[in-house]
Amino acid sequence: MDIKRIFENNQEWVQKKLDIDSNYFSDLSKGQTPDILYIGCSDSRVTAEELMGIAPGEAFVLRNIANMVPNTDLSVMSVINYAVEQLKVKHIVVCGHYYCGGVQAAMKSADLGILNPWLRNIRDVYRTHKDELNAIDNEEQRYKRLVELNVEEQCINVIKTAEVQKAQRDRNLTVHGWVFDVHSGKLIDLNIDFIKLLENIMEIYRLDLTEPEEQELKV
Ligand SMILES: [Zn+2]
Repeated sequence: MDIKRIFENNQEWVQKKLDIDSNYFSDLSKGQTPDILYIGCSDSRVTAEELMGIAPGEAFVLRNIANMVPNTDLSVMSVINYAVEQLKVKHIVVCGHYYCGGVQAAMKSADLGILNPWLRNIRDVYRTHKDELNAIDNEEQRYKRLVELNVEEQCINVIKTAEVQKAQRDRNLTVHGWVFDVHSGKLIDLNIDFIKLLENIMEIYRLDLTEPEEQELKV
């Protein structure tokens, strides 16, 4: 790739936008009101806006290796907090993809240095669903199912946060689990039954959402 070409592409893009709407960038500079928070993989083949057919300003985006939502990751937690509390997004999407290198790397025993603790989160997903996954003989199908289960577990991590629970209760914020199929280009809604999932886990993760002054201080 010619890096210089990128700046020429940018000039062409600016001109194309201005040809259609001369106020395009002045409107864009006024602020953002995206409806969607999209959490996806850093994989260069899985773009966010392009595969959803949406324009700049329509999605708040976070991408990392294997679309993870680790509970203690400051970057992911800050993005979720800002998207829900400040931008008031209506939907949170965790989008995985088949043939994800991050998920495949997590299934191998190679020592990958700083990636080890990150990929361990995916190994935890495997451990949680070991019986189902080990029952799948076909290795490709097993990887694909792990990609789906990883999306489901990351959606659960999203739901564990206080701001998401509050927004679900107050303004019906919804969480979605999707998978992008690199082989066909299709976006697949996993139609995760969150009501059923939540019934099982909310006993553990439900947070007391009353204001701090209403809560009894117990130290
Ligand atoms: Zn990936």
